[in-house]
Amino acid sequence: MILCIWWCFRSRNSVVGINIDIIQSYYPIHAWRDLKNVIEDTEICVVCLENFEEESKVRKLICDHVFHAECIDEWFKQHKFCCVCRKDCEAVENLFSKISQDIRMERTSLFTNHSNDLNVQSVE
Ligand SMILES: [Zn+2]
Ligand SMILES: [Zn+2]
Repeated sequence: MILCIWWCFRSRNSVVGINIDIIQSYYPIHAWRDLKNVIEDTEICVVCLENFEEESKVRKLICDHVFHAECIDEWFKQHKFCCVCRKDCEAVENLFSKISQDIRMERTSLFTNHSNDLNVQSVE
């Protein structure tokens, strides 16, 4: 019984992190120059601690944190959460599928909240 549960659990979660297909579908790669005007307080990738270059390929997570695509892909092989704020970045899959109709509004409100945070930080 225990073995069966363990096996089911293990086979369902054979990937420790997030499946690359999920990452590719929900966090498409952007060039940093296309995002840098939107993400104002971020200049470095906290995984490798290097500055983003104009042509850097980056992914923006649901929490609006941005990382080099190759860095966050490596991170998501071992983890399911954002390495800055620890938001569950795989749960976004359920979020998208359940309320796909409202997703535009949801994403907008997430972004708005974060923008307020950014403003507070920049004031400081
Ligand atoms: Zn990096
Ligand atoms: Zn985050």
